[in-house]
Amino acid sequence: MNKTELLVIGAGPAGCSAAIYAVRAGVQTVIAGGAMPGGQLLQTSEIENYAGFVDPVGGFDLMDRMHKQCKRLGVEILSDEVSSIEGEKSPYTVTMASGTQYEAHAIVIAAGAKARWLGLEGEDKYKGHGLSACATCDGFFMRGKEVCIVGGGNTAFEDALFLAQFCTKVNLIHRRDAFRADQVTVDQAKANPKINLVLNSVVEEILGEDSVEGVKVKNVKTGEISQIPCSGLFVAVGAVPQTEFLKNSLVALADNGLVLADERTHTTLPGIFAAGDCADKYYRQAIIAAGSGAKAGIEAAAFVNLHRK
Ligand code: NAP
Repeated sequence: MNKTELLVIGAGPAGCSAAIYAVRAGVQTVIAGGAMPGGQLLQTSEIENYAGFVDPVGGFDLMDRMHKQCKRLGVEILSDEVSSIEGEKSPYTVTMASGTQYEAHAIVIAAGAKARWLGLEGEDKYKGHGLSACATCDGFFMRGKEVCIVGGGNTAFEDALFLAQFCTKVNLIHRRDAFRADQVTVDQAKANPKINLVLNSVVEEILGEDSVEGVKVKNVKTGEISQIPCSGLFVAVGAVPQTEFLKNSLVALADNGLVLADERTHTTLPGIFAAGDCADKYYRQAIIAAGSGAKAGIEAAAFVNLHRK
């Protein structure tokens, strides 16, 4: 069995910040970052609201910097996914997808969130065939084509602006006529001649034989059904916390899957802390994930240092 004083689950801004604070407090720290460490920012093209960057920074670039910073400070980053946590008090046993096990005195859960899908019938068949939850990753394949995007938050609007750079037309379909996205981003989209807002509308069906060829849309106010031909459908309707691996553990989760943690990031188990999008009901911002990760790192280091034999 491998041993570590602190195991951080997740290598996004929350996990990296937790690790940076803990390792600088003298705590031996390992991050289990999943198959591709970095979290949601790896799929974010440009970040303009992370303080300290005068010009927009790419999500991949920001995570690369954080990982290098962690490694320079002595944090080990594993490309392995945690499948379970066992125990009711420290030390805990953490099992990875590879079968590797760690005994950890403290744990920071910073596993982030993943895309929510629409839940339409036959949705799975179109995934990778024109249906995507990541415009940054798959938008390239839609060059010169008409696409649709669903959602009214920052992700949908930013993705629409991104896609409009190389698609012929972007239909942004939103179930209301008010938006969660920042006004400045909404204004940019409204001013873009390639972006068509389809409001008070929901996608009822994806059309196409083997790949997306269009969507059937219902206006929820008038009941009117229409079809929009498109080669790509991008879904940007929020995220769900990545906490399935905790279902058989004693760490308490809310009904929506978020880890229950107090304002000092303590979960219901001693020595287990939670930070970032897997525990955040409201903000889901990189800088807030980083801040809560720092809190978790401080708390975890205090726990380890207090209980160190
Ligand atoms: P979000 O803010 O939760 O927005 C999700 C959108 O999807 C909402 O407009 C929601 O509609 C809609 N929606 C949810 N479920 C739906 C369904 N089943 N069918 C149709 N529509 C559905 O998610 P997000 O845009 O991914 O953003 C997540 C967080 O990250 C937010 O805090 C956001 O500000 C942040 N973010 C920030 C930036 C940035 O600052 N640069 C960039 C990206 C994301 P309703 O509005 O009707 O509920």
